[in-house]
Amino acid sequence: MPWGHERDRPAVSHWRVAPVRTYRRVMRISDVVRHKGGSVITVRTDASVTELLGLLSEHRIGAVVVSDDGETVHGIVSERDIVRHLHTDGAALLDAPVHQIMTSEVHTCVPEDSLDDLETAMTEKRFRHVPVLKDGKLVAIVSIGDVVKNRIDDLQAERDQLRTYIQS
Ligand code: AMP
Repeated sequence: MPWGHERDRPAVSHWRVAPVRTYRRVMRISDVVRHKGGSVITVRTDASVTELLGLLSEHRIGAVVVSDDGETVHGIVSERDIVRHLHTDGAALLDAPVHQIMTSEVHTCVPEDSLDDLETAMTEKRFRHVPVLKDGKLVAIVSIGDVVKNRIDDLQAERDQLRTYIQS
């Protein structure tokens, strides 16, 4: 005879009915900085583009914060800026000062910001580097590579929680 209502069903003890809950802590910029460290390569506004190229190559990085005192952010310059200006200005660009090609309106973040918000901003505004300021002073930089690494670590932790749940 077919069961009329859910309550008429015999109890089946091996069915798992509890919802699967995985817990994801809000990741902050301070967490990322703690892992990667706070060293930031900077370049002075009057340094030449050739000097800038030297820094990018020596440190194997894609962008440098422009700062005269190592704390105040005047701008940011990435390899894309160099490529774009080389195309329009030619080789003369190599002797030009960095401030000529830097982006002056820099999007920055603070250690308390969430990584999710930073990820959204980077995706929407299409830049891969964001300086971190504490009390208005430069303390670190977060790249899209750091964001992706943290996202992968997060997913792996979630997968491990699910695996533990299924096997328990
Ligand atoms: P990137 O994706 O970091 O190589 O940069 C792409 C473009 O965005 C370049 O013109 C950079 O100068 C600019 N840019 C990079 N980071 C920032 C930032 N945090 N705020 C504003 N502009 C940026």
